[in-house]
Amino acid sequence: MDVFDLTPGADAGNIATMSNTFEKLLAEKSVLLADGATGTTFFGMGLQSGDAPELWNADFPERVDRHYQAFVEAGSDLILTNSFGGTRYRLKLHGADDRVAELNAAAARILRETVSRAGRDIAVAGSIGPTGEILAPLGDLQQEDAVEAFAEQALALEAGGADVIWIETMSSREEVELAVQGARRTSLPIVFTMSFDTNGRTMMGVGAADVMGLHGELGVHACGTNCGIGAAEVVATILNMQASIPADGAEPILVAKANCGLPEFIDGEIHYNGTPEIMAKYAVMSRDAGARIVGGCCGTSPEHVAAMRHALDNTAPGPRPSIEDVQRELGDITAGAIAQARGETEVKTRGSSRRRRRRPG
Ligand SMILES: [Zn+2]
Repeated sequence: MDVFDLTPGADAGNIATMSNTFEKLLAEKSVLLADGATGTTFFGMGLQSGDAPELWNADFPERVDRHYQAFVEAGSDLILTNSFGGTRYRLKLHGADDRVAELNAAAARILRETVSRAGRDIAVAGSIGPTGEILAPLGDLQQEDAVEAFAEQALALEAGGADVIWIETMSSREEVELAVQGARRTSLPIVFTMSFDTNGRTMMGVGAADVMGLHGELGVHACGTNCGIGAAEVVATILNMQASIPADGAEPILVAKANCGLPEFIDGEIHYNGTPEIMAKYAVMSRDAGARIVGGCCGTSPEHVAAMRHALDNTAPGPRPSIEDVQRELGDITAGAIAQARGETEVKTRGSSRRRRRRPG
């Protein structure tokens, strides 16, 4: 329970008749706590590196349920389905490209059952990740084929009981557009988040202001950032997104899902160095920076999420942090993100003083 008197966006009458749990929770609560990592817990349960976790929806549904249940107990308001690699292109690597409908519907159905035992509302977010293919003309994937693949996955997630289609870890604006187009075949709200891992931008050069523009063009429910290079950079990205909301535009619902610090290889295994204390601080700072949905990504365990729950429930909302506050409390921020915070939304061409615009026109 939130301890603060928060102002919900809808009146009680509307909330009572709302059937979509995601929309209902957004109307009721000022901040939703999402979940943490999927891979991290699955490796602990025996998943081998290179295995497709989506196959576990059919082979080990009780393990998938246990993974979801841990985030229910940690206090998540929204949990992602085990379907990140569930497009036909990703499943093809495991000889399972003909099982898209089955595996994605199962991912959502298991989570729907898990949350039905929770005794509170929890949204089932149908996770969709990149196809892993390169779009034409650079690569082989035709746009219409990408749309069909995303639609196939999204429809299966809806059939299994998802409340929202959750497009995540995207790098290219084109792939977001195609995924949203596919997701529109469902009747569900749509969220997209992009991974800022390259000097304040995505690998494909998308900046915080570009994401705000894309949100406006696509008219989706919420957008934001996930994964990337740690908590400080994610909060800086949220600040940069907030700063570039068009004055006449509707304020987007922003999502922050940071990795649990940075990966370190210890005895050949990946460990993330973020502590529950850091992730708790990150959760509060993301909220104060303007994110309405806050969670973790790679390396974020249920223990970290429980610490985030406790911090969000017991820390009064504060003023928006500055970039310097974020650096002091959470660690380094890239020069690229700092430049965007100063209002430089254009990218310097390497080795040249000339500047090019990311988006023509
Ligand atoms: Zn991640």
